[in-house]
Amino acid sequence: MSIEALNYDDRGLVAVIAQDAETGEVRMMAYADPVAVQETLRTGVAHFHSRRRNKLWKKGESSGNILRVRSVWVDCDGDTLIYMVDPEGPSCHTGAETCFFRRLDAEGGLVQHEQDSSAPTLLRLERTLLERKSSDAGTSYTKSLLDGGASKVDEKVREEAAELGRALINESDQRVTSEAGDVLYHLLVGLVLREVPLRALLAELSGRFGTSGHREKASRSRRGLS
Ligand SMILES: [Zn+2]
Repeated sequence: MSIEALNYDDRGLVAVIAQDAETGEVRMMAYADPVAVQETLRTGVAHFHSRRRNKLWKKGESSGNILRVRSVWVDCDGDTLIYMVDPEGPSCHTGAETCFFRRLDAEGGLVQHEQDSSAPTLLRLERTLLERKSSDAGTSYTKSLLDGGASKVDEKVREEAAELGRALINESDQRVTSEAGDVLYHLLVGLVLREVPLRALLAELSGRFGTSGHREKASRSRRGLS
């Protein structure tokens, strides 16, 4: 299948979902025509077709909040794409990280909560920890760890890692899961303490297998697509 052979609708468009290549967060949804897809592949930066202005739209052309595109995925029937992206800045024109920050409740009413987001679990956890860090309503467990500093977090990470190790050796799957959760939680507290983004950790991991962002970029340059 080529760009021309994608399954365009009667307006000549395919739907495009932009998803964070590291965190898995869905950032936005828009439409593309063949020119927009071609420009995206050529430049490595997300382009769409603006239905309102009826023209090619480089995401972030005025805000600077571009989406660097690592890869473009095509769904089974060719009418929807995913741009796997490295976002620079918030993706929504409202200033939100993602356009999907409002939820329908069971009755169909629109709700919006700080704590409630469409983000994947680890990202939601990171955002919750960051919020605890900046709040002065200081009685949460997270807050007490952060207030204890690196030595406190060091102590807990070692303790939880030892518990996970013991569970791996001779405890139930349920215990392994629970202890692994404790390790991940404390690990994230450590990252938040040091102000290292979860995204950087995920990028480090994805760089260790398959195609890393850097390697992909390099190979894109070699193919003249960057
Ligand atoms: Zn938006």
